[in-house]
Amino acid sequence: MEKLAVSRTERQNERNTESQIELQTEDKVDELLTEEKWQAILSNNAACDGTFFYAVRTTGIFCRPSCKSKAPKRENVAVFSVAEQALAAGFRPCKRCKPTGERLPDAEWVEIMTRYMDNHLTEPVTLGHLAEVCHGSPYHLHRTFKKITGITPVDYLQQQRVAKARQYLLQSEQGVAKIGQSVGLPNTSYFITLFKKKTGYTPSQFRQIYQATTQAAEDNISAKEASIYE
Ligand SMILES: [Zn+2]
Repeated sequence: MEKLAVSRTERQNERNTESQIELQTEDKVDELLTEEKWQAILSNNAACDGTFFYAVRTTGIFCRPSCKSKAPKRENVAVFSVAEQALAAGFRPCKRCKPTGERLPDAEWVEIMTRYMDNHLTEPVTLGHLAEVCHGSPYHLHRTFKKITGITPVDYLQQQRVAKARQYLLQSEQGVAKIGQSVGLPNTSYFITLFKKKTGYTPSQFRQIYQATTQAAEDNISAKEASIYE
């Protein structure tokens, strides 16, 4: 068993040297995702650890083949022979399987969560789902997010959804239900309740008040511009 571990490390070192040379000539090379590798990812095959790493483009995280995290979509997977290549291509090591042997700093993990939520505002995202795609337990994820940002992931998501909704209310003529849908809150009465809780106004009230203010401000600016040319 020990012997195997040694030979694996040696193999890893050889690969590291090879890849450093490769990286100098051609940056960010990723390998082909063969059927064999894909099956290793799906079956969390620990025997393949050290032979390659896989990254998921939608989350920006990379893992060892044995990682117990949710199986990614095949088309989103990039494969690297060494961890350094994945890092060079901008991927961050998974908090769960620690492909570089080091812990990913909490702040970077939170960045990954935040980016994922920002990119999926139009979809319903649960804490469980977020934990799956960001490779951690819901409890750990919730606690770390709160520790770093001061708010929970759910609070963050709601804030962002309401901020987007405010923008749509002022900049579009879309109806309230439609806007709720496009910010991931398809239940209109829930959307209205949440919006009111966060802003003090219902979406329609908000639109009336602020669209009028924005219009007045614009009129004011054009009046001033006009006076310059008088
Ligand atoms: Zn992992």
